[in-house]
Amino acid sequence: MNRRYRRTIIAGNWKMNKTPAEARKLVEELKPVIAKAKWCEVVLCVPFVDIPIVVRLLKDTRVAVGAQNLHQDESGAFTGEVSGAMLKGAGCKYVIVGHSERRQYVGETDALVSEKVRAALDAGLRPIVCVGESLPQREMGITKDLVTLQVKTALTGIGVDQLKKIVFAYEPIWAIGTGKTATAEQAAEVCEHIRTVIRKIYGARPARSVTIQYGGSMNAENSEELLSMLDVDGGLIGGASLKAKDFIAIVNAANQ
Ligand code: PEP
Repeated sequence: MNRRYRRTIIAGNWKMNKTPAEARKLVEELKPVIAKAKWCEVVLCVPFVDIPIVVRLLKDTRVAVGAQNLHQDESGAFTGEVSGAMLKGAGCKYVIVGHSERRQYVGETDALVSEKVRAALDAGLRPIVCVGESLPQREMGITKDLVTLQVKTALTGIGVDQLKKIVFAYEPIWAIGTGKTATAEQAAEVCEHIRTVIRKIYGARPARSVTIQYGGSMNAENSEELLSMLDVDGGLIGGASLKAKDFIAIVNAANQ
């Protein structure tokens, strides 16, 4: 974390978990602690159907609500899809874009991710753009090349004013939901590389203000070490965001 230049953001990604009733229970457990976090911003990225109840429960707090996906078009005949304007209207501030599970299971490409980043910004949402390599890609030594391409493509056509609204999440696929965390050094190396890519496009000052999170089995035990790295400005947390005790421990580690 480097709070001098950028915000630390801890975001929970609930994935396809929690009915509205379960969401209410979890938020009621989390709220007394996460609503008091001063030194980091807390975001809950919840399933679409949970957005209304979570927005309502967190309405008087600084905790933000996010979605996990949006459609790239403003409106139209896209059965089952949800637009940025709908998410904004429902009270979301953030939206995850290009999560590896969507790249892997729904076939989202870098080009589509780039369209979704623009759609999110146009709707007044802050996209959390996920990038990261698979294990074979890491073993082939192409992590940085791949991440460079993902970051550059996501930023196509994005001006410096809009850059401020974008959050990146470095999420090595081999660490997501596997219990295998990247070491703090591995996480920091790629987060720093992402900042270098951004610096080469926009210059040093805009690049140092961008929040770059790490995601991949971050938990109560390893969060403090990961967040101690200067270029790791927070976390995108899947599994550990579903249990109040674990998520609170991560928020506390970021809020020191
Ligand atoms: C994620 O879903 O973005 C994630 C990092 O999951 P987990 O923390 O469970 O690895």
